[in-house]
Amino acid sequence: TIKDIATPTRTNEILKKHGLVLKKSLGQNFLVESNVIQQVIRKANITKQTAVIEVGPGIGSLTEQLARTAGHVIAFEIDQRLIPILNDTLSPYDNITLINEDILEADISAAIETHLAEFDEVIVVANLPYYITTPILMHFLESGLDIKRYYVMMQKEVGERISARPGTKSYGSLSIAIDFYTEARTIQDVPKTVFMPPPNVDSIIIELIKRDTPKVDVESPEVFFKLTRGGFVQRRKTILNCYQTIFENGKKEKDAIRRLLAAAEIEENRRGESLSIEEYYRIYKAYQLQNT
Ligand code: SAM
Repeated sequence: TIKDIATPTRTNEILKKHGLVLKKSLGQNFLVESNVIQQVIRKANITKQTAVIEVGPGIGSLTEQLARTAGHVIAFEIDQRLIPILNDTLSPYDNITLINEDILEADISAAIETHLAEFDEVIVVANLPYYITTPILMHFLESGLDIKRYYVMMQKEVGERISARPGTKSYGSLSIAIDFYTEARTIQDVPKTVFMPPPNVDSIIIELIKRDTPKVDVESPEVFFKLTRGGFVQRRKTILNCYQTIFENGKKEKDAIRRLLAAAEIEENRRGESLSIEEYYRIYKAYQLQNT
């Protein structure tokens, strides 16, 4: 058997051997605890029929354990310095494809077609770089890729925003956007101590199951998200005030917004952060009627 990368000793050895200085700016906090990885793999129900996309393999701690259980792993890593290291640490495995690209720029669809065509299911498993958690999740969800399940480690505070209910402190446009595309579930909290170096914040693992169709039936997600984001531009302000900020701020517009909210049967003194996705959907429908 091969010794796991995800231990403090082995990780230190690898970093030393290659003289690698970690980049905080790229969110390089590496997992040094195999148990956490094993739990994610169990929850994700990975078999040899599963293909996995990983974002940010680092030095391969999660990647190698995915490769042992999954049929194939494609790992996208932005940091060129890590590629020779990964080629070294992952050399025992022949079912990994490394791609040295920014996940937000990469042609994920082409990579799936080239390397994963024979698999029934493609899932995403990642310990995400925390500075771009939201852009990465939205990138995948908006891409139209046939990926139904996501198991992602992120900053706990972001995980709380994802699963927040209306009217709570963490509730925001991210909660709505994720709920629009997926059913989200918390898998488990992860302490700082399982990373090297330990990050400043606690972490959490979230499961996202993509809905077959978005939660509400909108023709233009762009317009819908403009209206939901608009409800949170000023915390503790009424929805009327918020919309006055995002639309032109004049008497004529104020009247139009009042008519919009009346048509949607939303009281204009409600706060944006109290409105559910269904209530934003009513606003959206009224907006589309007003503007066509
Ligand atoms: N998977 C490893 C682990 O769990 O130990 C490393 C996780 S570390 C939190 C995040 C990784 O994402 C780093 O290796 C970093 O270089 C990489 N990364 C950062 N931004 C990226 C991007 N835009 N595209 C691809 N990888 C990125």
